[in-house]
Amino acid sequence: MLRLIDIKKDYAVADGKVAALKGVNINFRKSEFVSVLGPSGCGKTTLLNIIGGLDKYTSGDLEIAGKSTREFKDGDWDTYRNHSVGFIFQSYHLIPHQSVLENVELALTIAGVDRDERRRRAVEALEKVGLGDKLKVKPNQLSGGQAQRVAIARALINNPEIVLADEPTGALDSKTGVQVLELLKEIAKERLVIMVTHNPELAEKYSTRIISLMDGEVVGDTNPLKSEELCDVYSNDEKVNKGKKKKSSMSLSTAFRLSLKNLLSKFKRSSMVSVAGSIGIIGVSMVLAISAGVRLYIKDMEDDMLSGNPLTVRQVAIDYDSLLDFAAADKKNIDITRLKDKVYLDSVLDSLIEMGDMTKTNNITAAYAAYIDAMP
Ligand code: ADP
Ligand code: MG
Repeated sequence: MLRLIDIKKDYAVADGKVAALKGVNINFRKSEFVSVLGPSGCGKTTLLNIIGGLDKYTSGDLEIAGKSTREFKDGDWDTYRNHSVGFIFQSYHLIPHQSVLENVELALTIAGVDRDERRRRAVEALEKVGLGDKLKVKPNQLSGGQAQRVAIARALINNPEIVLADEPTGALDSKTGVQVLELLKEIAKERLVIMVTHNPELAEKYSTRIISLMDGEVVGDTNPLKSEELCDVYSNDEKVNKGKKKKSSMSLSTAFRLSLKNLLSKFKRSSMVSVAGSIGIIGVSMVLAISAGVRLYIKDMEDDMLSGNPLTVRQVAIDYDSLLDFAAADKKNIDITRLKDKVYLDSVLDSLIEMGDMTKTNNITAAYAAYIDAMP
């Protein structure tokens, strides 16, 4: 069902590349408990990540149920990871702000299973790993062994054909480690379990097949597939390929509910961020408001000042300019004739009385009115 064909994986590093896997060929049975053994840095994690679709091989092929993954798109890998593979990590990778039950439910949430069904299956899976009484507990209140069993329940919830475990007992003491291995052994009765470990005794005791890796190459396989088994696998794969799997998807409301829950669980931080954000927004609005207000005020001031200088057009007006001219001319004319030993009375008042000369009558025609109207 699962087949690695000459898988190579290179990692690009500063000075060239590291060959993490150098041509790995393995066939896996539908159900068996495989341990991958090898020293640190030999490529165990790399191999597991490639099998799980978390990492992409550089060359070769990974066949899933007889189907090449060479042409797989991101969406195909998503579907594969979501429906066919369950992951168990050394450090559990549980979500700290969600309860045990919610952690297990999450995989189903992403797969788009409805709420009641989700709950029922999650409770069932947790009961199976012996944690039926810890449903509402947060992960940080669990012991290492319990946390790892939650991770196993989560890995199994989608009923995957393949369970991948990267040093699942690495962080556990030997007693709880044994419990986890017993559980994995049980699981391996009806599916493929591939476990990475560096503990040969545990591998020997619990698994049905040990694959040894060394420097990116397989150097030992205690139970490789026989040729007649291979034939069976191929005919079985044909059947599997007929029933297509549905794509993983999450409804919008579920996505909103999950985000809201995340926000609420970090209430202090979220509220501080929103207060700080509000201060920023209020600051910007205030600057804008003040500048708009000042601009309006200046405009009002300008209007007020100009309204003190009205331009008035009347039908009859006095020409003050000519009054001045007149007064000056009058003085000039008189000055020449005045005698030095006499006092004369200035006749400006007299002239004012004769102002009739200075009054002008505007000839306001329609054209003139239009001209005035058009003035700004
Ligand atoms: P193991 O799990 O057996 O300890 P890994 O699969 O993690 O080993 O790593 C195999 C080799 O690949 C190591 O030499 C490691 O340094 C290298 N390697 C792993 N991941 C990366 C990466 N992301 N970038 C560069 N080199 C990597
Ligand atoms: Mg590793």
